[in-house]
Amino acid sequence: MSENSTPTNFIRQIIEDDLASGKHSRIHTRFPPEPNGYLHIGHAKSIVLNFGVAEDYQGQCNLRFDDTNPHKEDEEYVEAIKEDVRWLGYEWAGLYFASDYFEQLYQFAVELIEKGKAFVCDLSAEEVREYRGTLTEPGRESPWRNRSVEENLDLFRRMRAGEFEDGARTLRAKIDMAAPNMNMRDPALYRIRRGAVHHQTGDAWCIYPMYDFTHPISDALEGITHSLCTLEFEDHRPLYDWVLDNISAPCHPRQIEFARLNLEYTVMSKRKLTQLVDEGHVEGWDDPRMPTIAGLRRRGYTPAAIRDFCNRIGVTKSDGTVEMSVLEAAIREDLDRRAPRRMAVLDPLRVVITNYPEHEEETLTGPNHPKDESMGSRELKFSRELWIDRADFREEANKKYKRLVLGGEVRLRNAYTIICQKVVKDISGEIKELHCTYDPHTLGRNPEGRKVRGVIHWVSALAAVPAEVRLYDRLFTVPAPDGDKDKPFQEFLNPDSLKVVQAMLEPALAEARPGDRFQFEREGYFCRDSVSKDLVFNRVVTLRDSWGGG
Ligand code: ATP
Ligand code: MG
Repeated sequence: MSENSTPTNFIRQIIEDDLASGKHSRIHTRFPPEPNGYLHIGHAKSIVLNFGVAEDYQGQCNLRFDDTNPHKEDEEYVEAIKEDVRWLGYEWAGLYFASDYFEQLYQFAVELIEKGKAFVCDLSAEEVREYRGTLTEPGRESPWRNRSVEENLDLFRRMRAGEFEDGARTLRAKIDMAAPNMNMRDPALYRIRRGAVHHQTGDAWCIYPMYDFTHPISDALEGITHSLCTLEFEDHRPLYDWVLDNISAPCHPRQIEFARLNLEYTVMSKRKLTQLVDEGHVEGWDDPRMPTIAGLRRRGYTPAAIRDFCNRIGVTKSDGTVEMSVLEAAIREDLDRRAPRRMAVLDPLRVVITNYPEHEEETLTGPNHPKDESMGSRELKFSRELWIDRADFREEANKKYKRLVLGGEVRLRNAYTIICQKVVKDISGEIKELHCTYDPHTLGRNPEGRKVRGVIHWVSALAAVPAEVRLYDRLFTVPAPDGDKDKPFQEFLNPDSLKVVQAMLEPALAEARPGDRFQFEREGYFCRDSVSKDLVFNRVVTLRDSWGGG
């Protein structure tokens, strides 16, 4: 919808230049998640960028699982990631696994050894660290660096054959131990992981290639033209290029880095999200408070709103943190347009219309959308007993209070005006019910000679459908929960991030299907939960920015 106007950015500029100069005649990108967790809103930024660019320049985008770390990865994540990418509205040109390339990667490593550009190193992890030097001091060369090509080939073959313990040996690139960029100081290319069972390759391999070796080669094998990644890989680009320059690569993709998305009041890394799940702070990866795609989907976010959000925040080279209100504005705008209006009373207070006949019920109608007639209308039931929200009544209030007061008159949305005549309390002094009178001549028109204070929502007590409504708030109490060095982010969890209420809904809501979204008038946007068997609604977002500041 609003995506026709995808704002341009420096990456799109590079692509346009490459097309104009003839450097490339077609564009090929990829989205390369590691299947070690569910996708989050940060990944959505990368997905919208990679798939969006491919779409806009008639190119292609692959989905590639970067699965070189058998210990942390799982097939469950592979399936969830595919579902999320599709749900966001994208279809990949090719589906690949970096593990598909294990044999080719091995052969490229052999090529490097044969060219004298890689060696098998016997230093332990700790020794490697000692030898590496620091930012201000050059490193020292490994004593194993000058092994003969024959010896290296033999040892690497035996690494593959499983002859050595985990950590006993690594294959390292032979580059420059004095390089100012630490990534170029003879980085590891392969490590031994003998016990691991890989979700795709099983126990076929006991050596696994490192990201910095795997990624450029995978890109090249797929004919990727622009390899878009986040800024933390900027320092790895020289190694990306070194790998491709030193093997017989079919092509040399260009790596371009952009800033990762950080969002206020949440954590974003899969490691921390895993902790939230494993430690039971949330219900699961799809808990509606999670910044995961699965969580946002269950919360009631639409793919269009997430894509719109990603376009709004743009793509730049400078890191920053985006306010939650930007994400919320995107879903609010989308749902304002498409969500049918309904009435739901979240904190029910009984109202008895004393001049309305007992046991009678009449059918009224309410438009599904005030600005979109094509959405039609639904039936409402009016009767002698109604529910209104406790917050919509005060015994006394000044003129600014636009709701019901004792002796005052308000309109019930899509129905009549009522005047509160009497407040009935229980022995503790709590208001039990209100006795009101209605004016039968006010359906669709104003009362003569009187001004009503305002409009409130209501539900007929006879027809109301009880339901659980989950009111979600921010998951953390501070904008940057992982920004404190001395305190783990879990200490900033918001104890009130979920409030559950028993609400009374208008009857039409009984037919809501899982995932259906509505505006509950005057309350916010809500989505029928897709996990609970019962009638449960999740609050997607309030009607107005409640985050303060905005
Ligand atoms: P995490 O720390 O959350 O696990 P990651 O970068 O390790 O993130 P990957 O699965 O490796 O996660 O990421 C797949 C792609 O998504 C990469 O290209 C990565 O740069 C990108 N990506 C991950 N997080 C973000 C983010 N917050 N903003 C933008 N892009 C991101
Ligand atoms: Mg990662």
